[in-house]
Amino acid sequence: MNRVILLVDMNAFFISCETSRDQSLVGIPAAVAGDPGKRTGIILAANYEARARNLKTAMTVAQAIRLCPELRLVKPDHDFYKQKSKQLMQLLNEFSPIVEPNSIDEAWIDLSGCEKIYSTPVQAAELIMTDINKRLGIPCSIGISSNKFLAKMAAEMRKPQGITELWPEQIASLLWPLPVNNMYGIGSKTADKLTAIGIKTIGDLAAVKPKLLSDMFGRSGLQLYNHANGIDPETVTMPSENEVKSIGKSVTLAKDANSPDEVRTILIKLADEIARSARKHKKQGSVIRITIKYSDFSITTRQCKINPTASGNDIFQHAYQLMTCHWKTNSSVRLVGITLANFSEEIKNRQLTLFDFDKCQLHGMHSDKHKLIQTNSLHGADDRRRLEETIDAIKQKHGKSIITRGSLLENKECSKN
Ligand SMILES: [Mg+2]
Repeated sequence: MNRVILLVDMNAFFISCETSRDQSLVGIPAAVAGDPGKRTGIILAANYEARARNLKTAMTVAQAIRLCPELRLVKPDHDFYKQKSKQLMQLLNEFSPIVEPNSIDEAWIDLSGCEKIYSTPVQAAELIMTDINKRLGIPCSIGISSNKFLAKMAAEMRKPQGITELWPEQIASLLWPLPVNNMYGIGSKTADKLTAIGIKTIGDLAAVKPKLLSDMFGRSGLQLYNHANGIDPETVTMPSENEVKSIGKSVTLAKDANSPDEVRTILIKLADEIARSARKHKKQGSVIRITIKYSDFSITTRQCKINPTASGNDIFQHAYQLMTCHWKTNSSVRLVGITLANFSEEIKNRQLTLFDFDKCQLHGMHSDKHKLIQTNSLHGADDRRRLEETIDAIKQKHGKSIITRGSLLENKECSKN
């Protein structure tokens, strides 16, 4: 069966939500912007009238008003946007039971096998677009293809209110001429590395030897190569209501940081908390995702595939590595986050005692309350997992603060989100 996958992406989502409940914003330049007093004096979403005046996301309110003095500014109302997003996902579910949200304002929808209901995929897209317009009052763009990656690329090609097909036979003419930084999944840093070795277009990327990319970017290099060639075997996956799909935590820093080293202890703490939560749900994740929010409010998210884990140490190591690779040089950062996703096999329940750790030495009394557990001697993943599971059990019995990593004892630098 040929796959038919649509990516439905809301245009200028936040400000479109506002316009749907305030008709006075129709047809005039308007934007959602935060409060300057709270470091949020930044344009979060500008409508197309404002974009025509060169307004861009993450611009300061002062810059925006200089470009467009009559700009109408609206404060963000994230609860309202979440509610609209939920309505969008429900509406898409009326067209197909297989809907996978990609973010608050977009989702993939699998229409494979619906040929008898809709004469063509374009006709289905037109019905969806009209319905979203009528019921939610929000414009959208829709990309159509046979896989998730191509559908996403197609949706980006025509905005606002575009319906674009991008089938594998059109890759050479429509996808390959695009600059490599237009490719979904490629951030500015990866794009810089690629252009530095002469890979300027998606076509250039599709033509290189895959080994070159895997040497440069590890597993994600192969994915880049496949995507550039229009190959994406990922299926549209419905998030199950009760199932934990990912576990993420982030921290707004008390003061901006300039390098991953400055947030090292914070990352250890986040990784430990995520790992504990994963173990509580008896899950192991095989994707680590990081979020870096810069002081200009631009956001970098990157992810990598790893062997399934619920170990704080593993999560930290990979997150730290990703941060080091993707942190823009000389940029100050206000928020860092880690997410563990792609959960697989269950962790088996085992009976644990502290004396499970035959390789673990107890080093006398550190203070009245603290014993120091020397973890350097724990080599295998299994040892570390058993240690972490036992620490969970101790914390559950005696409270969270009873045991902590030595490296975290001095760190009180952050406020958790
Ligand atoms: Mg979007």
